Amino acid sequence: MRYPPTVDIRLAAAVVAGRSAARASRLLRRGGGTALPGLVAERVDPAVVRKLALRFGRGAVTVTGTNGKTTASRALASILEASNVPFLHNREGSNLMRGIGSTLLLDRGIRAPHHDRLLLLEVDEATMPAATAAVAPRALAFTNLFRDQLDRYGEVDTVAAMWREALAAAPRDATLILNADDPSVAELALDWAGPVHWFGLDDEAFATTSAGAFDARWCRRCGSTFTYERRYFAHAGIWACPGCGRTRPAPDTAGTNVRLALDSASFDVPGIGELTMPLSGTYNVYNALAAIGLARVLGLPSEAIRQGVAAVAPAFGRQEAVRVDGRDVRLLLTKNPAGANEVLRLLATVAREAPDGNVNVAVLLNDRFADGQDVSWTWDVDYELLAGHVGRCWAGGDRGPDMALRLKYAGWPESSATVADPAALLDAILRDTPSGARIFVIPTYTAMLDFRAELVRRGAAGAFWERE
Ligand SMILES: [Zn+2]
Repeated sequence: MRYPPTVDIRLAAAVVAGRSAARASRLLRRGGGTALPGLVAERVDPAVVRKLALRFGRGAVTVTGTNGKTTASRALASILEASNVPFLHNREGSNLMRGIGSTLLLDRGIRAPHHDRLLLLEVDEATMPAATAAVAPRALAFTNLFRDQLDRYGEVDTVAAMWREALAAAPRDATLILNADDPSVAELALDWAGPVHWFGLDDEAFATTSAGAFDARWCRRCGSTFTYERRYFAHAGIWACPGCGRTRPAPDTAGTNVRLALDSASFDVPGIGELTMPLSGTYNVYNALAAIGLARVLGLPSEAIRQGVAAVAPAFGRQEAVRVDGRDVRLLLTKNPAGANEVLRLLATVAREAPDGNVNVAVLLNDRFADGQDVSWTWDVDYELLAGHVGRCWAGGDRGPDMALRLKYAGWPESSATVADPAALLDAILRDTPSGARIFVIPTYTAMLDFRAELVRRGAAGAFWERE
């Protein structure tokens, strides 16, 4: 990449404006609001992101998907650290265009070209066309495509169309890192003449037998409904199209011999060996495989991949344990039916191993914009998986009464409290459980923010911008 030989006055003005906005917003104590500098700078120079991205000598890589893009990009960041590759990462989850702009503007090395640095971007699904056009990534990873937050981007087909638009804007020689087991992601290869690196699971013993929530997918080429030889997670598995004969591609990066524990997961990757990470859940194994595939495309060494995966930190709130008055409180964020089912599957395993065969669970349901405003999705979730294995339970959030009703139908015991207020909910949890108890909290996104703010207020968890 060539650094522009002449001074770009417009870019310089945009950078000054953006950084001033950042300083002003910090003075105003708007902690966490990372979109403003990018917004201001874009007003001055609409090409600011493109110009700043061009300075990264190792180019840019993007990570997107409905679930797991934060964890997958953090896993890659961890591998890059273990590889001693310098990089810039939009790690605060500011994955829209303005947030990406802010990350570039607030970069400390902004005034010099970065000959040896890589730009690592976690990108929102709908931002992919704009981000791809702006940063011209050399590699693009797609983790999965789920029905998510119904009223945000509409259906799966809408997002798939956005991703095809992104591919049309991508450099022809870029490498796609695709989930072979998710047919909606795998289909992106139909529109791609460049290189593809596939990742997926090859573990017959690990296939799921639960019916679970599972939205059917249709072949884009012939319209047939995919059939499955086995499924690992929601609609991810060994799929085939009975109409046109397409089958799930063989992975270049395959996860085998998967073993899940409450706080960790281990698996083997042929060519690398055994990996262990401090996160559990099938979805996190997929996230790690996406990062490993991306790392291999970047030519990073196996030993650094193993070390990086072992050191990956949980994304904020997604799987986090804190102590509150002697209780062990674990937050397990759920964003959609597939993620919720995976959490319930994990809790069923935990309950089976508990001395009394039970787990204590608080389920918090909000219906604000970021949660999805239609709460009918809770009826697609298999809360029945935990029936008979729940000790104490609480329903909370703005739609606590709806949640309590749903849990009652699922055969859970009567909720001890149904409260919207997170402080009252935490009081109820502490009143109902002895010291030493373990409580699992399953919140939607904004309910997680509210509950976590209450934990911070009581000194139980650090403010989220302090994590990492
Ligand atoms: Zn077909």
